[in-house]
Amino acid sequence: MKVSSPMKKPYLLTPGPTVLPESVVTAFAQPILHHRSPEFEKLFAQVKEDIKYVFQTEKEVLILSCTGTGAMEASITNLFSAGDKVITVNAGKFGERWTKLSKAFGLKPVEILIERGQTLDVRKLSEVVAANQDAKAILFQAHETSTGVVLPTQEIAKIARDANMLSLCDAITATGAFNLPMDEWGLDVVISGSQKAMMIPPGLAFIALSDKAWSATETSTIPHFYFDLKKERKAHAAHQTAWTPAVSLIQGLKEALRLIHEEGLDNRFKRHHMLAKATRAGVKAMGLELLSEVPSPSVTAVRIPETLVNGKKIPSIMREKYGVTIAGGQDELTGKIIRISHFGYIGEFDITTGLACLELTLNDLGHKVKFGSGVGAALEVFSQEGLR
Ligand SMILES: *Cc1c(COP(=O)(O)O)cnc(C)c1O
Repeated sequence: MKVSSPMKKPYLLTPGPTVLPESVVTAFAQPILHHRSPEFEKLFAQVKEDIKYVFQTEKEVLILSCTGTGAMEASITNLFSAGDKVITVNAGKFGERWTKLSKAFGLKPVEILIERGQTLDVRKLSEVVAANQDAKAILFQAHETSTGVVLPTQEIAKIARDANMLSLCDAITATGAFNLPMDEWGLDVVISGSQKAMMIPPGLAFIALSDKAWSATETSTIPHFYFDLKKERKAHAAHQTAWTPAVSLIQGLKEALRLIHEEGLDNRFKRHHMLAKATRAGVKAMGLELLSEVPSPSVTAVRIPETLVNGKKIPSIMREKYGVTIAGGQDELTGKIIRISHFGYIGEFDITTGLACLELTLNDLGHKVKFGSGVGAALEVFSQEGLR
């Protein structure tokens, strides 16, 4: 592998995988544990307890060895039966995934399709719920990572509860980044993943179920084997997992959770809020516009100006010429937006580095930006917010 030059020192500002804290990286250097051993059970018992704080729940948070999509699939195959009607909220690529997953297992999704960059209008949801009272659940994202839009999770949970439907929340880029109290808001299923705000590599998914959601598992008839949540719950009760877990990732998770506890959820949310505000101020100062109607504390989605020839090259120039990795758009947003991520182990100077690199890149492409304009606007925010 090519040794990276200091002129291309890698910076990762993508919505997953995200950069890892040094102490998490070194946690992976520990000797592996056997998973059917008292040492593992001690580790797992602690991790299971510590993660409840991040989910803000008293319920068991199941830890699965797969990415977030695996937990999304598990929620479908364990809670529903073929022919069940569900309401899916499609505000982007991940909302669309709920629709595709539902169809894959024979459910009948009623999809609310939202223009990219817009959030869910709760009046619209109420209308769809009223017209489909036989639906079993509402499936949505707390944060739609593909557009950087926050959805009204608390309101959605309430609408679902009032209509006696389940609320299934993909919180993969929300958990640990902004406030999402599962129990207080009465969410039935909350799903998260490891490589986003949780600060560990890809390979673990987390899923917590309310009592109502556990009841639904009693009547579900969709076949499943590997993703058997009842079997996992039983194994978890004995500080075990049904199958061989990703032991090393769980060792890293222990350290990541320790860091989250040490920072405190409130401080963590404030930090994400500040980083997002500074990023927005920075890109606006460069004359760019946001895509998102309700921008998120996790990811900032920015429109590439239509007048900018070769604008779609922004992410590749940033990465290949300067070493800074951000994300572009997906599907219909390919070439139309860039996404700068600021969740997980990200601080002020990661943001100023990302913005400085964007200034250079825009100038390379002929979009004249006064050097320091974006960085300066971000520094203004950091100085005003005074989090230190
Ligand atoms: C990353 C992500 C997922 C899961 O994707 P995986 O490729 O399975 O990790 C699901 N939903 C959202 C909102 C995400 O950001």
